[in-house]
Order: sequence, then structure tokens, then C-alpha cells
Amino acid sequence: MVLLELAVRLNCVEYKNWVKAGHCLLLLRGCLQGFVGREVLAFHRGLLASAPALGPRAACCGGLRCSPRARQFQPQCQVCAEWKREILSHHTNRNGDVHWGNCRPERWPLDAWEVAKAFMPRGLADKRGPEECDAVALLSLINSCDHFTVDRKKVTEVIKCRNEIMHSSEMKVSSVWLQDFQMKIQNFLNEFKNIPEIVAVYSRIEQLLTSDWAVHIPEEDQRDGFECEAGVYLSESQVNEIEMELLKEKLQEIYLQAEEQEVLSEETSIRLELVKEFLRNNEDLRNGLTEEMQKLANLSLQPQKLVLGAFGGDS
Ligand SMILES: [Zn+2]
Repeated sequence: MVLLELAVRLNCVEYKNWVKAGHCLLLLRGCLQGFVGREVLAFHRGLLASAPALGPRAACCGGLRCSPRARQFQPQCQVCAEWKREILSHHTNRNGDVHWGNCRPERWPLDAWEVAKAFMPRGLADKRGPEECDAVALLSLINSCDHFTVDRKKVTEVIKCRNEIMHSSEMKVSSVWLQDFQMKIQNFLNEFKNIPEIVAVYSRIEQLLTSDWAVHIPEEDQRDGFECEAGVYLSESQVNEIEMELLKEKLQEIYLQAEEQEVLSEETSIRLELVKEFLRNNEDLRNGLTEEMQKLANLSLQPQKLVLGAFGGDS
């Protein structure tokens, strides 16, 4: 049953492209995590070296009054005020949106990652390190923090592609689009020629994108997890895992969007409706996403705006 549904989905070239593109994002995330983690520590060390007063002995004395909310942060103590100033001075988007709500300012003197989150998109308050972040969070950090010396245009190009993947209402991208994506990823990865683990991932991405990506659906006595040398074959469960990751990210984004709106906008409702429609037709995926759908349903929005009935009762 599951295999049948998957086979039907992958018969559609554009859907297969969409999953491939998503797989690239996962590979990208994987190769950036270690690098970003190390750089964030170095960035934090650098900040403390140039401003020792911000170091581990500095303590916020504003208590709850020093709690940021969404894009708002009015520090109530000197330590937080100085930290805010310091963070902004390294922010390439300092006049735009800074999602202070991601951070626990009292942790800034001790925890490099709490500082890093000020350079990331909304909704990451509970992420404790790069290993818990998706590609766009890491790319945004690289883009927004001047500690990273890269051609920012190449970073934003990849971010733009990522958003197109996530916002694709039908979860499809064309083969031409995919080629373009490959070029943009390559341009981005070329910025990190001295980081072996990032260089290494390029050949995997290239193989993935240029191959027909024959998905190996095991039959009868063949076991799961078969992968050929080139890494081009994926087992059914591997493909499924990628699909789930992508859909989770998509739902999380809709959730964050919905959370910000008092009344669900038409755009958000349509996005949500389309995912629901897709999941209605793909039971194998739907069953793994009940938690995410429930989270959306629980948003205390006007009930008539969030029509989640079709999921509420599903088992
Ligand atoms: Zn404070």
C-alpha cells in the first residue's frame, strides 16, 4: 500500500524533482551544521575578547523584564543593552527584522548559540544548536552575521530557491528549475573551498540532481536500505523520510505564518488547504504528520478560519 502510493507520487517528474530538491537541502544542512557550530563559537569568543565586560561573569539583572517578544526587545539592564548593541553591530540586516524572540538574552554571556539565533528567522527559540536547525536557519545566519565572509548574493539565491521549494503549492518543481537550483547551490558551495566537508557534499548533490534518481523499491525478499555505490539509489523508506522532513518543514512554516496572523489570511488558508488535500490522497504521509496537523488545529484562531475537521477525526 505504502509502496504503491509512493510509486504513484514518484511517477510525476515534477514531484520527484521537488523531493530531490528537498534532499539537496537536507544534504546542505548536513554539511553546514558542523561548520556553523564551530564558527558560532569562534564568533562568540571574538565578541568576548573585544568586549570582556560581556563575558560569562556579566549577568542580566532585568529578569523577566529583559524578555524579548518576536521582533521587539527593549533591554531593561545594561548587560542586555550592550549585548543588543553588539549583536546589531554585526547584523547585516540591522535595520530590518531581527527576531529577538528567538533568544534568551540572559544566556548571551555564556551560550554562543543564543547569540546566533538573533541572526536567524523567527520560530527557533527552542533550538539548542545547529544540529536542530534546518537549512534555511543556517543559511540565514551565514547571510545575516558579518562574521561569515561570503558573497551574500550567493547565499540569498539559495535561500530564495529554498523558499520556492517550501512555497510550491503543489509540491512540484520543473526540471529547468532544478538545473538552476543546482547551479546556485554550486555557486554557494564554491564559497567554502577550504572546508572539506562542504566541498565533499557537492559531488553527492551533483549525482543526485543529474541522475534519473532511480528509486529502488524493494520487492519480495529484498531488504530495505539498499544503496548503490554512487548513492543514487534510495530505498523507499529513505525517500519517505525525505518527504516527511519536507512536509514537516512546510507545515511548520504555515504554522508560524498562521501564528502571526490574528485572522488567517487567504494565502495561508490556501496553502494549508492544498497540503491537506495532498495528504488526504497520501495516507502513508498523513499518518506520520498527525502531530503537526494537530498543532495547527490547536492554534487558537477563529475556528471557521482553520478548517481542520478533516484531520481532527483521523486516526
Ligand atoms: Zn537583561
